[in-house]
Amino acid sequence: LVERMRPFTSTIFAEMSALALRTGAINLGQGFPDTDGPPSLLADAAANITGGLNQYPPGPGIPALRAAVAEHQSRFHGLSVDPDDVLVTTGATEAIAAAVLALCDPGDEVVTFQPYYDSYAATVALAGAVLKAVPLRPPSFGFDPDELRAAFSSRTRVVLLNTPHNPTGAVFTAEQLAHIGALAAEYGAVVVADEVYEHMVFSGHAHVPMATLPGMAERTLTISSAGKTFSVTGWKVGWVHGPSELVAAVRAAKQFLTYVSGAPFQPAIAAALALPDSFYTDLAAGLERKRDLLSDGLRAAGLTVYPSAGTYFVVTDVAPLGVTDGADFCWRLPELAGVAAVPVSVFCADPELGRTLVRFAFCKRDEVLTEAVSRLAGLR
Ligand code: PMP
Ligand code: GLN
Repeated sequence: LVERMRPFTSTIFAEMSALALRTGAINLGQGFPDTDGPPSLLADAAANITGGLNQYPPGPGIPALRAAVAEHQSRFHGLSVDPDDVLVTTGATEAIAAAVLALCDPGDEVVTFQPYYDSYAATVALAGAVLKAVPLRPPSFGFDPDELRAAFSSRTRVVLLNTPHNPTGAVFTAEQLAHIGALAAEYGAVVVADEVYEHMVFSGHAHVPMATLPGMAERTLTISSAGKTFSVTGWKVGWVHGPSELVAAVRAAKQFLTYVSGAPFQPAIAAALALPDSFYTDLAAGLERKRDLLSDGLRAAGLTVYPSAGTYFVVTDVAPLGVTDGADFCWRLPELAGVAAVPVSVFCADPELGRTLVRFAFCKRDEVLTEAVSRLAGLR
């Protein structure tokens, strides 16, 4: 294995999910729902498979899905998107990787925030680029504008932005985004906006897509995923849209990563994107209730809970339990309490930043969360 990939031989999700399985712990580590998406979506995909939609779809994605993504962006975000500027990808993960590979030469720099979703650092390493990670600190997980500015240089090609943010649950405000966007413009960087949790935002907060800010659509690639919105994480269908030249660059990389994917899923997702507003509002409301259920339980168990404004994750500090290392705690938690979680330090370029922080996922059935909460009560 080449040296730059050596830190990335395994993922915390694989490790913690395997540990949860081995120990019979409730898995609140890896973020995936324990119920499937809308029945109509599942039935459509099944019918597409038996109906023979099983060969390579068109390279950029099927026209119906590209049109549905454009329509979705207009309906929810007021964005005007040409379906020709939508590229269907193998999950958001591939969209991110193809974008970074398409935009960065070896030695170029990518600005992001830490903690970050784990694929970011690995993807930047794959491209031979250099990650500049700006801290998001509790309790609000905002950034220091001076630290952000200091992360930019003449080599900055990409700002890899994630809002709503995994793992912290932060939802960036328009003001924060304007600040990030202004720096991207000043340094001539492209913003790769990972907005996979766009529909998982809770009361008092609103998702602001980077591309809706004045002047930003022309330098932003916006990414989302059916896996999140429709609770089908195993289908791995995502998309990216933006200015034609940028999307063309991403397509050039994407076509030699996977070429295409998800033929029978694409038409089903196209139809699901047109589900009524109630589907989307129910999704957020259901998760908000689950957030409260788990957050209250974690607080009762003696952890410090940092309020989650979006996503299906909540970050806690386990220091009040007398714990000095969150990673060590997560390895012991299945034995201690029959619950699995993930340490935030593994999502940090500077692990000290997340030393005693632990992330829990709440995208689980109420009875599962209730059982997890009663098990965690024993930690006190
Ligand atoms: N970005 C973030 C912030 C995520 O949390 C995830 C989910 N694992 C992804 C991207 C990847 O999405 P997908 O499963 O569609 O590749
Ligand atoms: N996005 C999910 C998480 O952060 C799952 C990631 C994965 O398994 N690669 O937990």
